[in-house]
Amino acid sequence: MTEMPNILWLEAISKDDIPLVGGKGASLGEMASVGLPVPKAFVVTAQAFRKFLVQTGLEDSLFDLLTDVDVENSEELEDVSRNVKNLVLDAKMPDDIKEEIIQAYGTMGPDNMVVAVRSSATAEDLPDASFAGQQETYLNIRGDAAVVEAVQMCWASLYGARAIYYRAKQGFDDRTVNIAVVVQQLIRSEKSGVMFSSHPVTGEPLTIIEGSWGLGEAVVSGSVSPDKYVYDRRLKKVFDRMISKKEYMIVPIGDHGTELVEIPNDRQEEPILSDAEVEALAAFAEISEEHYNVPQDIEWAIVGSTIYILQSRPITTIGMSTKAKGTGGQSTGAVLLEGNGASPGVASGPVIIVHDIKDLGKVKEGDILVTKMTNPDMVPAMRKVAGIVTDEGGMTCHAAIVSRELGTPAVVGTKKATKTLKDGDIITLDGEKGIVYEGAASVAAAPAAVMAAAVPGAAIAAAPIITATSIKVNVSLAEAAARAAATGADGVGLLRIEHMILGMNKTPGWYISQNKEEEFITELYNGIKVVLDAFPGKPVWVRTLDAPTDEFRNMLGGESEPIEHNPMLGWRGIRRDLQSPDQFRMQIEVFKRLWDRGYDNLGLMFPLVGHPEEFLKAKALIAGWGVDVDAVELGIMVEIPSSAILIEDFCKAGISFASFGTNDLIQYTLAIDRNNELVSSMYRPKHPAVLKLIRDAIAVCRQYGVECSICGQAGSDPKMVEWLIENGITSVSANIDAIPKIRETAARTEKRMILDAVRLKNA
Ligand code: PEP
Ligand code: MG
Repeated sequence: MTEMPNILWLEAISKDDIPLVGGKGASLGEMASVGLPVPKAFVVTAQAFRKFLVQTGLEDSLFDLLTDVDVENSEELEDVSRNVKNLVLDAKMPDDIKEEIIQAYGTMGPDNMVVAVRSSATAEDLPDASFAGQQETYLNIRGDAAVVEAVQMCWASLYGARAIYYRAKQGFDDRTVNIAVVVQQLIRSEKSGVMFSSHPVTGEPLTIIEGSWGLGEAVVSGSVSPDKYVYDRRLKKVFDRMISKKEYMIVPIGDHGTELVEIPNDRQEEPILSDAEVEALAAFAEISEEHYNVPQDIEWAIVGSTIYILQSRPITTIGMSTKAKGTGGQSTGAVLLEGNGASPGVASGPVIIVHDIKDLGKVKEGDILVTKMTNPDMVPAMRKVAGIVTDEGGMTCHAAIVSRELGTPAVVGTKKATKTLKDGDIITLDGEKGIVYEGAASVAAAPAAVMAAAVPGAAIAAAPIITATSIKVNVSLAEAAARAAATGADGVGLLRIEHMILGMNKTPGWYISQNKEEEFITELYNGIKVVLDAFPGKPVWVRTLDAPTDEFRNMLGGESEPIEHNPMLGWRGIRRDLQSPDQFRMQIEVFKRLWDRGYDNLGLMFPLVGHPEEFLKAKALIAGWGVDVDAVELGIMVEIPSSAILIEDFCKAGISFASFGTNDLIQYTLAIDRNNELVSSMYRPKHPAVLKLIRDAIAVCRQYGVECSICGQAGSDPKMVEWLIENGITSVSANIDAIPKIRETAARTEKRMILDAVRLKNA
């Protein structure tokens, strides 16, 4: 048998070498072999680690210590972990391995190059995916002794308490788990970011590049709004660019760690990339996509005029991620917290508490994000985590809406999660039942089950159920469009554009005051277009801006927002737009451009309309801005009792459709703040007063032939939908995860009604 090497250079590695170099090493090697400019690196192989264990005689004593450890006993676990790590750290590395590391390091470059030393764990019979993030990485390492020491520290990190715990829970025998170590040139990026080789939703050959000054963590963690460039690979030109104000960057501090620093004023609005750089990056994106045969999500960095590609992996369509989700798992641990099950699925992982934007950089893939309440700044971090737990909020709060769209399990309104839980605690949350358990769940959903949970409706779409009632879907984030469309929904019954606008981090008023209206228009146009493209030929009801003033407060320009005693009852919805025509006009300009581009499936819906005059005034303004109002669909949300009571006058005023916003209709009918968990038990969607308003309004809409729908959370409740269909509703718009059960409920209800009618006739 030929002896396995201790060291392998990237160029000699391919994707088949996982047992030798771990997943990280194999993927870097594969990238280098197709000509991507990966920073120089070599790998200390898993076999070198094995030799170390054998030659030092550690093997038996180390595994003896690990046998029978009670991983649920955290003191015992910490003790064993410390002892095993010390054994590894105190042992003398065999001379031949040490010399080969020093020799390889010496040939990397002159003058003791600064490197990153990263763990790349692997199991004998499995790739390393399940171990990602559990072993250590050491940055800013320089000099022979430091590199050798860092390699040994990576080896020891294979026996960190968290890593032992995970392996035990996943049924891995510690003896079969190995570790390779990647020693790689550390790139002190002057600018860096991420790119998608093709459009992540439509798959068009448009390379989308985001970047900012400094190290890439700033973009990945979402602590800055990056510049965005769109390169059309067919036309070979930069198709669009959006230059953001970049206020912070992450830079290395000395030889250890990183820090967030302010960017000098004169560079904040400077574009970070020239057209030539965009083009060069897009060329690498194309090489990668062609090699892997699937669109890629790529991390890049630039130093001087040199481009580096740091990572390339398939674009994980939202909802198809490998987050540890399931649908019906049970944890064995104690119940720690209870709240509202806001987004279904089960997730386990370590807690990371986020108090404000500064904490976002700490959030890692697979963590459980715990916070008082999420806000638009947190959306990039919400994309990464396995689950979300909040202190505040009900089923219609920001955390609930966004996590449902991202397909991330979430429990909201626990009142005290940020106080009860600590960073690093392992918990399991059940996003259906609204419970947080201690420890990791004992379930590991089979891949097929994960897929079905992640793409609700996928199975249904394969065997479509036809319903006379249109079953539409609610969307708030452009990135959720593909997942929403995969449900086979009959259109979008509510596109909440405020999440797109809040995500821009500047108030509409700020864009107006800075003469940057075009920037606002372009961003919103692009977001809505993604959703329209995902639903060709199906109606998409886009709602005009409806964000309460307090949600704008932390954004740029937020200081000019009025302070209101009760923002829920205040300056939001159509009221605000009618009083601020400049802000309304910017939105209408977006819709006008989309209609002009042929998107005649776009219908407009006005929120918080209380009187037909408001509808007529909005319509007149829109007509005055050059829209042929008779050629487009204009409708209203019925979410104030007055609009339900006056529905006939609305029909006479010419609305094309009406949609019940029950989240607000309930709170305004019953005087119950929808976000206040103290009164949430009194928030009753089926309160007779609410049902009466809805039933009467449906009857009038039917009489006038006006489409009547629902887009509030109650439309995702099968019992409520049954009642609505019995009472004549023509369409229902539900959350992405609820579509299969709502479609099935609609079909059953319709069939039962037909059967009842026939039986009655025959009786
Ligand atoms: C509603 O009020 O029911 C609704 C759908 O709108 P939002 O939740 O955005 O207020
Ligand atoms: Mg509402």
